[in-house]
Amino acid sequence: MNKMTVKDIALKGKKVIMRCDFNVPLDESLNITDDMRIVASLPTIKYILGQGCAKLILMSHLGRPKGQVVEAERLTPVAKKLEQLLGEKVLMLDDCIGDKVKESIAKSSERVVLLENLRFYKQEEKNDPEFSKKLADLAEIYVNDAFGTAHRAHASTEGIAKFLPAVAGFLLEKEINYLGKAVDNPARPFVVILGGKKVSDKILLIENLINKADALLIGGGMAYTFLKAMGKNIGKSILEADKVDLAKGLLEKAKAKGVKIVLSEDFVVVKDFEKPEEKKIVTDIEDGWEGLDVGPKTIAKFKEVLSTAKTVVWNGPVGVFEKDAYAEGTKEIAEYLATLKNCVTIVGGGDSASAAKKFNVEDKMTHISTGGGASLEFLEGQVLPGVAALKDK
Ligand code: AMP
Repeated sequence: MNKMTVKDIALKGKKVIMRCDFNVPLDESLNITDDMRIVASLPTIKYILGQGCAKLILMSHLGRPKGQVVEAERLTPVAKKLEQLLGEKVLMLDDCIGDKVKESIAKSSERVVLLENLRFYKQEEKNDPEFSKKLADLAEIYVNDAFGTAHRAHASTEGIAKFLPAVAGFLLEKEINYLGKAVDNPARPFVVILGGKKVSDKILLIENLINKADALLIGGGMAYTFLKAMGKNIGKSILEADKVDLAKGLLEKAKAKGVKIVLSEDFVVVKDFEKPEEKKIVTDIEDGWEGLDVGPKTIAKFKEVLSTAKTVVWNGPVGVFEKDAYAEGTKEIAEYLATLKNCVTIVGGGDSASAAKKFNVEDKMTHISTGGGASLEFLEGQVLPGVAALKDK
């Protein structure tokens, strides 16, 4: 990565403000149900504290409060979890800007402070310069370790970098290094597994990866629009009718570039989503039936291509994996990825990361991205504003 990191700047005695991605899932009793994002931020937090900073001020958003205070979206549960994980007291504030916040930080004996949810202010998502300045006023150095929001130009991800020396944390660095190497200089063959619901969400991704990958394996809901483009019967499977021509164009482009495209060729189908006991495996989908998972032939074919891969990027489940009856394809692919030797396996954030977790292969992947949208935009070849704003090396 060509951006400065916490290792390139003197932190001793400095007040450091760090943007984290603490947007964790909470249950109804406001218990954190998955602390992966907090755990992922610990290396940078510990490093900054270890360098003897004067104060480490952490900030994040949580949920979608849309510019107002929402009690259920306070960061208090995160502060508690952080205390447990760090083994030291964290000062939780009930605001993120202003004199009171400044005063509390100045008076605090704690080394670590957590500001209240940034999105309680609408200025955060508007990238309001005054709001950015108020955040910047709390510290002397800015660190961005929130990969999950790096694709958004918000006050705490982009605006603030105009007022303070801005560097990356380790999590951000790791994400950019893994994803960057995969798309710019992959060990080959470079195979991409694409799934998920819609083609429309992944058009830019496919267009970019056609120029980079050796093979694209397409499953999940999005495959049906491609299959339709090839004149196949897809029954009542999910279709984006207005994207059929585009899908045809992408297939032609891939062919012209010599990129191998493997589409699902057999399917787990049902007439009624709620009646999985009636499911069957078919190669031709009749009217009234809906494809919800890939079948065994497709799984075997995907595995065959994956068996020689040296780099794999996985973005999107190949079936409705949330429901056990339609999870087999995604499970088998996830488990197969876990067995690959001498292969860099990268899992895009969001649903694929949840699938890797559900099927217990998390530890066996080279890298699981913590940011769904951000990893998607990065793999699309887009500049992430939160990264672009950091100081060049
Ligand atoms: P995305 O957010 O676009 O990656 O889509 C992920 C979602 O796609 C998951 O919630 C899956 O349940 C869903 N999905 C995967 N395969 C299918 C399918 N064949 N039909 C409908 N939805 C699907």
